[in-house]
Amino acid sequence: MIPYGRQTISDADIEAVVEVLRSDFLTQGPVVPAFEQAVADYCGAQYAVAVNSATSALHVACLALGVKAGDVVWTSPITFVASANCALYCGARVDFVDIDADTYNLSVACLAEKLACVETSGGLPKVVIVVHLAGQPCEMAAIHALSQRYGFNIIEDASHAIGAKYRGEVIGNGRYSDITIFSFHPVKIITSGEGGMALTNDAQLAKRMRLLRTHGITSDVADMTPRPAQELWFYQQITLGFNYRMTDIHAALGLSQMQRLDAFVSKRQGLAKQYDDLLSDLPIVTPWQHADNYSAFHLYIIRLKLDEIGQSQRHVFEALRADDIGVNLHYIPVYRQPYYRDLGFEPGYCPEAERYYSQAISLPLFPALTLAEQNQVVTALRRAIDL
Ligand SMILES: *Cc1c(COP(=O)(O)O)cnc(C)c1O
Repeated sequence: MIPYGRQTISDADIEAVVEVLRSDFLTQGPVVPAFEQAVADYCGAQYAVAVNSATSALHVACLALGVKAGDVVWTSPITFVASANCALYCGARVDFVDIDADTYNLSVACLAEKLACVETSGGLPKVVIVVHLAGQPCEMAAIHALSQRYGFNIIEDASHAIGAKYRGEVIGNGRYSDITIFSFHPVKIITSGEGGMALTNDAQLAKRMRLLRTHGITSDVADMTPRPAQELWFYQQITLGFNYRMTDIHAALGLSQMQRLDAFVSKRQGLAKQYDDLLSDLPIVTPWQHADNYSAFHLYIIRLKLDEIGQSQRHVFEALRADDIGVNLHYIPVYRQPYYRDLGFEPGYCPEAERYYSQAISLPLFPALTLAEQNQVVTALRRAIDL
């Protein structure tokens, strides 16, 4: 089976992990801050907070922005469930903004319309979580302008988009958002095994996220009330936090992978172009790219022109899987999940997301994918759609 995504591990990655294993600190040592600094420097952000997953990063990001019971958070329905669950963890409600027909990212037009619609009824979102689907940046300038007008905060779920550029600038610099989060799960652009990071230019947000990742405990006397005598053993828990720490073992892998980030993304870009060429005569839609942006190409998503293909999406999907092609569907609209159905959402809630869901298939894409494997995928696809 050719998987839809997989990690690329070098000898240098293995060396870096082994070095930590031989060192004094497996966790809370020097490698986590080094990894944080490397990502912050790469992205041009002031602060980076490493945690044990992007899911944890989304959780502490929402809490740092003050998301709580009574608030509502909006996100895209075409994302991994974690982009929505983080609001529920904070006791807030979630709502979904339909996607753009070309980019499959949250639609700015739908966002503007929905904001205007709820403005008078008091249902404005506290936070909007935008997702750079497949590594393609969202329309950040327009979304930021709406945030200024309606007074919401923005989290970029950039789990797919480390190494991507919006209008020539690296995603994660925080120009148009409060917090950007990355995932280092093995299928993502770079990996730390499991891991995530939250970037911000706001010192207070960074401080709150650091506190939340380690039980809400501080050893900084300036943050303690009442201020204790400065005994060496003293620490205080000043809020309710979690153990969301990243280990130095994971950070060593992530830090080592950072050195190949640009190479990984450029390899993905080249493979995507190759797919574009190989697939150009098929009745499918290949990924639309904005001329001013640079996608990290976490995913290569095609859409089947079902009116020109005499086969169902399900048939094509099953035929590809039967041919050992590890296709996938990113994603089932979140509101269709049984848990969200129980919260009151119905299938059909976002019409454009439904259309996308009925036609989309992710083809295998990862840096080590060979041209022979790409040809194998394309041959299988031709067979599946019976051409
Ligand atoms: C993978 C992913 C996450 C969660 O990442 P973890 O590191 O596995 O917690 C969140 N959002 C999106 C869009 C993702 O693809």
